[in-house]
Amino acid sequence: MVNRILVTGGAGFIGSAVIRHLLGDTPHEVANLDKLSYAGNLESVALVEDSSRYRFYQVDIYNGPALDAVFDEFQPTAVMHLAAESHVDRSIDGPSVFIQTNIVGTYTLLEAARRYWNALVPEAKTAFRFHHISTDEVYGDLEGTDDLFTETTAYAPSSPYSASKACSDHLARAWQRTYGLPTLVTNCSNNYGPYHFPEKLIPHVILNALAGKPLPVYGDGSQIRDWLYVEDHARALVEVVTRGQVGETYNIGGHNEKRNLEVVETICELLDELVPMSVDRQQAGSYKGLITFVKDRPGHDLRYAIDASKIQRELGWVPQETFESGIRKTVQWYLDNREWWKRVLSGEYQLGRLGA
Ligand code: NAD
Repeated sequence: MVNRILVTGGAGFIGSAVIRHLLGDTPHEVANLDKLSYAGNLESVALVEDSSRYRFYQVDIYNGPALDAVFDEFQPTAVMHLAAESHVDRSIDGPSVFIQTNIVGTYTLLEAARRYWNALVPEAKTAFRFHHISTDEVYGDLEGTDDLFTETTAYAPSSPYSASKACSDHLARAWQRTYGLPTLVTNCSNNYGPYHFPEKLIPHVILNALAGKPLPVYGDGSQIRDWLYVEDHARALVEVVTRGQVGETYNIGGHNEKRNLEVVETICELLDELVPMSVDRQQAGSYKGLITFVKDRPGHDLRYAIDASKIQRELGWVPQETFESGIRKTVQWYLDNREWWKRVLSGEYQLGRLGA
């Protein structure tokens, strides 16, 4: 069956991977709804934007009437909701937009979806899906234990970002329980891969290393994250929206627990192999010589780790990349796609857009 999937946040890191996967590997039609915040970059979907199965709406999820117009025109069979403010450091510096987009925006989108869904014929109503995409950060910190997050782990978010995502998860579940809107929720671990905005750890380290700049590591770098290659996440999300059970939650993870310092050192080793330091920088010996420890982030969780056995058991999804294969692909991608990130660093990617 061909679905018409409305992807919110499709100009972002994960949303663009979902859209590239949907248009590249499935027959589904796709509408990308994105307000194009600083994190939105249509150049991340340039490879597929000429598809006759693709369209784009520049809309804020906070704008109910504009959402109604998109639902009316596109007539989606499913929504994949990824639009969000996503950077923890920004949420500490300025939580307001996180409350606005992640909580009020999700509420506004749920209501628009509900208005549209209520008017559908019974068969279309039953088939409709609202897939809310979230993070494992809602579960809080696993410091000092060997535990894994399961779908029933109690929520204990630490940052304004994770608290706002926790709230939106609850809203999505409540709209299913109270109104019968067919929602599903996924909670995923840290993603990495191509088209990742340079403020996030892995691209930041790659690009700073290439520029010979310090590689900042929070605290002593002992924070553990469970890393998942973004294209594995995109495949998991499409499995969930097309085959998952309404009302269910699925945890998605890469089985790749790594300390931040280990991640940074691995990137340095790959760069040492792929682009050895130029003669004028060789006093550092290795890119590792650029590692600089900086003051830790307030409220920084020490360890996240996902138990992804439910999605494997019920939907047969397993990641295709190990951390070793995925990080090599990622470093190579940044070496091969300098134009994409140079335009992000210079701000040129935002030129010519509405509201810029
Ligand atoms: P991102 O910051 O790269 O992209 C977010 C996108 O949402 C951007 O294109 C932005 O323009 C758009 N957007 C922001 N506010 C909007 C609004 N008000 N209306 C419409 N569009 C808006 O984020 P990402 O890393 O791709 O994350 C996508 C989703 O996945 C988020 O919900 C995030 O919480 C979740 N998630 C991320 C990770 C991760 O490691 N990055 C892990 C698990 C879950």
